[in-house]
Amino acid sequence: VTPEPATKIVAALDRLARGLRAHRQAVAGPRGLTPLQIDLLATIGQGPPPEPLVGLLARELGVSQPTITDAVRALHAKGLVTRLPVIADRRRTSVVLTTDGARMVDELARCDAALVDAVAALPRPDQETALDVLLGLIGRLVDVGIIDIARTCMTCRFHEVHAGKHRCALLDLDLPPAERRVNCPEHQPAIAAAGI
Ligand code: SF4
Repeated sequence: VTPEPATKIVAALDRLARGLRAHRQAVAGPRGLTPLQIDLLATIGQGPPPEPLVGLLARELGVSQPTITDAVRALHAKGLVTRLPVIADRRRTSVVLTTDGARMVDELARCDAALVDAVAALPRPDQETALDVLLGLIGRLVDVGIIDIARTCMTCRFHEVHAGKHRCALLDLDLPPAERRVNCPEHQPAIAAAGI
């Protein structure tokens, strides 16, 4: 029996996830890092959000706080991050990139160039359709509780659709597929339980 398209899509996503995991491992290994450590560096490099506190970083990356604490300790030992007291609450510390850490984040971003190039080789309308479909799918996985944090337009309380046109009510912006955001700092969840 031929599987339903939905089953094949989940299988395709699984294949993509395995490919990306293997890519991360290949990038991390020669640099003496783990895939989690490179995700952590990239998240600190992009943020906030989230604020670079251990608990929030753990939630962002879907791992436990002790796991993030260990990863921060390892990155600190390599001179890639340091911890600074939070000004408003000096009992807490932020995790901050060092100069070497910022350099490593740039280097890691360059390692993703092959991935971006592969996607960029698709015709532009296909890229826009893929982005639209993927953001819709992320929204559905947020709805059913499989994805915790997603700062996308489709999961945002400011996202509106009028006469088939998508808009951001906060920024007063039209949102054709190419303009929809994957990780928007202004995002607020449409459903209170959806996250950050
Ligand atoms: S605030 Fe950001 S995520 Fe929300 S609709 Fe506007 S652009 Fe999209």
